[in-house]
Parts: sequence; C-alpha cells; structure tokens
Amino acid sequence: MGRARFNLGKAHLWLAITLVVILALGACLPKGPGTPQATSTLETPRLKQGEKLRVVATTTIVGDVVRAIGGEAIDLTVLLPVGADPHTYEPIPQDMAAVAEAHVIFINGAGLEGFLERLLRNAGGKAAVVSVSEGIQFRKLEGGARPGEIDPHVWFNPLNVIVWVHNIERTLCILDPANAEVYKANARQYEEALRELDVWIAEQVASIPPSRRKLVTDHAAFGYFAERYGFEQIGAIFPGFSTASEPSAQELAELEDSIQNLGVPAIFVGKTVNPDLAYRIARDTGVQVVFLYTGSLSEPEGPAGDYISFMRYDVSAIVEALK
Ligand SMILES: [Zn+2]
Repeated sequence: MGRARFNLGKAHLWLAITLVVILALGACLPKGPGTPQATSTLETPRLKQGEKLRVVATTTIVGDVVRAIGGEAIDLTVLLPVGADPHTYEPIPQDMAAVAEAHVIFINGAGLEGFLERLLRNAGGKAAVVSVSEGIQFRKLEGGARPGEIDPHVWFNPLNVIVWVHNIERTLCILDPANAEVYKANARQYEEALRELDVWIAEQVASIPPSRRKLVTDHAAFGYFAERYGFEQIGAIFPGFSTASEPSAQELAELEDSIQNLGVPAIFVGKTVNPDLAYRIARDTGVQVVFLYTGSLSEPEGPAGDYISFMRYDVSAIVEALK
C-alpha cells in the first residue's frame, strides 16, 4: 500500500514538472498545431551587426510562404527554380553552396523532396532542417503497389498551409528573436489571407454540381484538396503520389474506362509534367485537357506567382472545366 502511494506521488511530481516545462516552453512560442521536430535542437545563431538569418526553402511554394513570414528580415534562397518538378528535381552545385551556408532549411517534408538526403550529405554545413508540414495529418495511399505511401501534396488545403505558417513563425522566432515581432505580425496577417482563401475556394466550388466534382489528374496531387472541398479523385495517369513512375498499358486502359463510365469531363495536368499521355487519353475518351499548377508556382509576374494566386488559378480552372 505504502509503496503504491509513494509511486503515485512520484508520478504526480513528474506530471507537475512536465507541465511546468510545457507551460514554460508554450509561453514563449506562438500557439498552433504542429511542432517541428527540429525545434528542440534549434540553436539561436549569433548574427553580426546587419547580418540577416540565412534561410533556404526547397520548393517555390514553401519559399513563397517563408517569404510571407520572413519578409525583408531574412536572406532567403529558394532551391527549385520555377517550373521544376519537386518529385524528380536534381540539385545543382549552387544548391550545395546555399545549403552549406544556411542557418535553417525549410522543407515541405512528407517525402516530397527525394533529392534532399543526398544534397544534405554532400553539402555538409550545420543548418537545422525543419519540415513545415510537421503536425499535419498526412493522407496515406490505400492498397495499390505502394500501400502506406504518404501523400506529400499538403499545400492543396490552405488550412495545412496555416500549419506551415505556425511552424515557420516559431522557427524564425527562435533563430532570430530580434525580429520576432515582425515574424509574428506577418504570420497573423498571412494566416488571415489563408482563411479568406479557404472561404473563397468553398464558394467557387459550390457552383460545381456535386455529381461533377470528379478529378482525373496526371498524378494524385489533389487528395487534400478533394478531402477539404468535397471532390473525388477518380484516378491519375501516373500511379502513386509521384510523377517519377510510368503507368502500365492496363492501368491506362482502366483509367480510360473510368473516365467514360463516370462521365468525367476533363483531365487536369500539371504544367511541369509531360502531357503526351494526357493528350492520348483525352483523344481516346473525348474529354478536354486542362492545365494546372501543381508542384511549382509560375514566374513572379505570371498568373500563379505566389501561393494564393496559384490556388486561385487552379480553382478557377477546375470550376470552369467542371461546372
Ligand atoms: Zn506531386
């Protein structure tokens, strides 16, 4: 009995200590879901007078969100050029130099950046690597050739990008506390814009009859979008969550059958993907090919030069094709 009481007391003590630690940490960190794993090991670098925090982001989409939070206070390098497919990207020597010099590297994570491990190993340096998607509930492939494969296309739901914002804000505040107020203010403002985007998308989608909310795409990039806005992903030309694998003749035939049986009016193809197969399927089934931005923004002056324009472009094109 005495022993049990003692253990219970000890458990309470540990619980109390843990709570104090959590509260102490929580007090200096912004609220929000998703704590980046790397945060616990983040060390605040000593920046010289006038020296900015050197930040690397992998994709143009991650880069745009980091820019929205970091603004002028950070020195940002985005690795992937506009139009590069993140699934198949091969780093160039400049990427190694940027990574070697960086204080922190923001990645999409969830397995999107297949090139990353080798790049980090070759570049050396001691930058912290932070997955902006930490804390998001990832979708997983069910069945198929690669069951359990994680869907990395989290950015097609703006609410997931709000998780990015919190992770980026938290990380920048730790690494560069002198500019914490700037990061917090930018994050609040950008989060507001993302909530407005989410409402706008739902309003646009409402003009598509529910029976026509069916997506056939080049690869299964729209799972998070479909889940949020009530679409069904009927199929994709490339199997799995990447553009790196080729479909078999049988898989293509099955996809054409689905398109015809379900009366799907369009195939959506990413601008960074070779559209030859999409054109062939469109010819066979008599549907139209519609281009979307999927893994990359457009040039800054183009129609999808930042994340919010990117989403607006895609949603408008989807609504136009399906309504
Ligand atoms: Zn993709």
